[in-house]
Amino acid sequence: MAIELYNTLSRKKEAFKPIKKEVRMYSCGPTVYSWQHIGNMRAYVFADILRRVIEYNGYKVKHVINVTDVGHLTSDADEGEDKMELASEKEGKTAGKIAQFYFQEFEKDVRKLNIEAPWKWAWATKHIKEQIELIKKLENKGYTYKTKDGIYFDSRKFKDYGKLARLNIKELRAGKRVDVGEKKHKTDFALWKFSQEKRQQEWKSPWGVGFPGWHLECSAMAMKYLGNTLDIHTGGEDHISVHHTNEIAQSESATGKKFVNYWMHNGFLVDEEGRKVSKSKGGLYTITELEERGYKPEHFRYLLLLTYYRKPLHFSLENLDAARNAWERINRKVIELRKEKHKGVDRTKEYGLEFLKAVNDDLNTAKALDIFWKALNDFDFTPGRKIVLLEKFDRVLGLNIKGMKEKKVVVPAEVKKLLEQREQLRKQGKFAQADILRQRILELGYTVEDKPKSSVLIKNSS
Ligand code: AMP
Ligand code: ZN
Repeated sequence: MAIELYNTLSRKKEAFKPIKKEVRMYSCGPTVYSWQHIGNMRAYVFADILRRVIEYNGYKVKHVINVTDVGHLTSDADEGEDKMELASEKEGKTAGKIAQFYFQEFEKDVRKLNIEAPWKWAWATKHIKEQIELIKKLENKGYTYKTKDGIYFDSRKFKDYGKLARLNIKELRAGKRVDVGEKKHKTDFALWKFSQEKRQQEWKSPWGVGFPGWHLECSAMAMKYLGNTLDIHTGGEDHISVHHTNEIAQSESATGKKFVNYWMHNGFLVDEEGRKVSKSKGGLYTITELEERGYKPEHFRYLLLLTYYRKPLHFSLENLDAARNAWERINRKVIELRKEKHKGVDRTKEYGLEFLKAVNDDLNTAKALDIFWKALNDFDFTPGRKIVLLEKFDRVLGLNIKGMKEKKVVVPAEVKKLLEQREQLRKQGKFAQADILRQRILELGYTVEDKPKSSVLIKNSS
């Protein structure tokens, strides 16, 4: 069955045809100057679902995610300060330390959300050589010019400029006069910026000491690891009009080949009124903050699966509560299901097919969850077969179904001893003394329930 994916380039759903058997996929990753919020995490869960669906269909995926630790300026238009240098000043640590710290924090969230680790985390500062090489290539082909401020890409020389975002270039360039500094055209962008004063992160280059432009790192690293033409490139929809437009311009100008076959973008996580919330404006939770409020990362993942990835997701704690209830219900039902033994019919095939159809229809995870529930609630479906199928569905959903098991409680030795002593006292008819021990056990967090033959310990919830 074909996998249909919505391609931003054609604005259509297309049947996915990889170049080779191993699918090559690149995702724009975090700028590690601060914590990634749950909006950012939506972008990675989306890429994760996409990758898992492709793997579910039998392909291998070579996935690269970049780590931006230099060059991302406070404005996407080559102005403002470098976010890393700014954070370094604010926190009084080196830019390298800042990057390491926030990357580690981010990686913890990746693990908590059951996002499969990419084949490669590609760090911008570790690929300066490749970025300089790419600029040289563009320079040799006549696509660049120099200003006081840096080396720029001349967007007018690339005839397809703006094709991804369907920019109306004429209008854009003729539109209201903006100060473009020494840039020739509004849509030109920096490949290399000169250090105007001493920076922490700066490198020698044939054009002068400085640092690479933000768009350049993605082109250079994607092509280094995945070749001149990738199968899939993902990112948030905010990247379409500038970042990805510029990635296409510089990559295709350098190689003369199509850079990416399928461009895929996730919609934003927005507030209840539909307003964009971003890290720079503050106001979005991190996964840790949700945990502090009593939510598991899986609850948030479940919430993400309920909305089509291209649509805006209206986030509120009420919505998250509903997702939590649903996930916890699945948890309880799966634990019960593992104990069920009754006979039934095997419906693996029909549910399996419905599920595949749903996820192959441009990752329709909401529908896939419906099918998951339908199978889970189907009493006639043989329990043993059912659990195998639900765990298979979870290869796409990533809700941690395998971990849904009755937790064995490890009773502390002290409690065990008290329980034994209490049994002895009861046998001897010393019930008042036995009650004192029951109270001691209760204080240690366990309730003793007396059954006809013996007594049972129940761990009190904290
Ligand atoms: P950044 O760390 O700002 O470079 O962003 C990392 C990724 O998160 C990019 O793919 C962005 O497009 C994406 N992103 C940022 N904010 C949101 C949001 N509120 N909802 C969904 N994706 C977002
Ligand atoms: Zn990128």
